[in-house]
Amino acid sequence: MGVTKITCYGGVAQIGGNKILVEDRDARIWLDMGATFGFGSEFFVEYLTARKRFGLRDYFALGLLPKLPGLYSPEMLAPASFDYEPPRFSGVFISHIHFDHTNHLQFLDPSIPVHLGAGTKIILDSWQTTATQMDLGDHDYRPFRTGQSVSADGVDTEPVHVDHSAPAAYGFLLHTSDGAIAYTGDLRQHGPHAEMTRDFIAAAAAAKPVCLITEGTRVAPVDPRKNLSEAQVKERSIATAQRAKGKIVIATFYPRDVDRMRTFLEVAKEVERKVVLQPKAAHLLLSLAADRRIQIPDVLRDPEILVYDRQMIAPKVWERNLLAQLRSKVVTSEYVHQHQGEILVQLDFETLPELIDIKPAPGSPFIHSKSEPIEENDEVEATLRNWIRFFQLRRHQFHASGHMSEREIADMVKEIAPKIVIPVHTEHPERFTRFAPHVVQPVREAPIPLTG
Ligand SMILES: [Zn+2]
Repeated sequence: MGVTKITCYGGVAQIGGNKILVEDRDARIWLDMGATFGFGSEFFVEYLTARKRFGLRDYFALGLLPKLPGLYSPEMLAPASFDYEPPRFSGVFISHIHFDHTNHLQFLDPSIPVHLGAGTKIILDSWQTTATQMDLGDHDYRPFRTGQSVSADGVDTEPVHVDHSAPAAYGFLLHTSDGAIAYTGDLRQHGPHAEMTRDFIAAAAAAKPVCLITEGTRVAPVDPRKNLSEAQVKERSIATAQRAKGKIVIATFYPRDVDRMRTFLEVAKEVERKVVLQPKAAHLLLSLAADRRIQIPDVLRDPEILVYDRQMIAPKVWERNLLAQLRSKVVTSEYVHQHQGEILVQLDFETLPELIDIKPAPGSPFIHSKSEPIEENDEVEATLRNWIRFFQLRRHQFHASGHMSEREIADMVKEIAPKIVIPVHTEHPERFTRFAPHVVQPVREAPIPLTG
């Protein structure tokens, strides 16, 4: 007894960047390998970036990453003058695709096994194909499905699906020699798959865990995220589209939020419009169609789905192939301009200049279906506002968060009833003492023993 310990290398009093090490005798297991939002922003901004050619040198020197032996790849270590050692870790378990849970895989020794949901692997492959700035490198990926336990160096880790703003999201139950540890990943109960989160909570409660490591994104004195359910996002978007007779409906949402894509497809059907998706979204949906467990709009066969051709001079191979494959559904800005009253178009931030060619009628609705900007002097937000003002669009804010409210987190803690609670992925770990009996606030890089 008393051999298991938990060390948080990220997600400490901050939202995102989860990197949690669970050690139990021979087992050394990572839960997520994320980057914080704004990772390294004390030293780097815009074009001032860490020197890629020197691998981990800048990150180590500036104290941005821990110098852990047996974790990083030889290519990353050599230019940092840090000796390579063979892996000292049993594996990494990825809860879901979001970058604050995956991005530091790019530094990882490729021989360390990376366990992730089968759907997450598909999303990752699509993302690495379509996004130029995204490359996590090669890894020993080992896809799992919900309920399929993975044994690593004496510890069984059981993934249990949860609902979140990305498909194929999981929490984990780790069966250690000091008892079970439950880890939530990111989760919500107001999405279209609330039953998955219920499954996780029930499984965690049944395991009678000694420890619950939980996210607390919305555990805060003031919840800055005006929250709707996915169904409310749909209702309000339908009402908005109904009022927009003869005008185009523009929607922007997170690129990997497949539930939101489905919501807008349903909105479009309801108001008898066609949806025009950006090629990256179409690529993701086509890739996910291979996974029968995830309910995916059928880009190939659904006559209501069209795909936008940005008319690149030299499109990337994937984009050229995709547009060729979907030839009969490909439309250009001119088509969209001429059929404004019949279309709901997806427009990402980086595709805002398409407005110049689409020429939306003044007063057209722009549905911002992402979190509300939290920081006052957010440059992206200021830029977006200028585009909206210039084209005289009407902005609407309809979003369902990927996270449970403070109240729901409190109820979950009560139901799971762990001996201790370790809050991560929250700016307010101290608030957990209001509703959880024994809270251990993590300190970065300081091991927490499970039993005394
Ligand atoms: Zn997260």
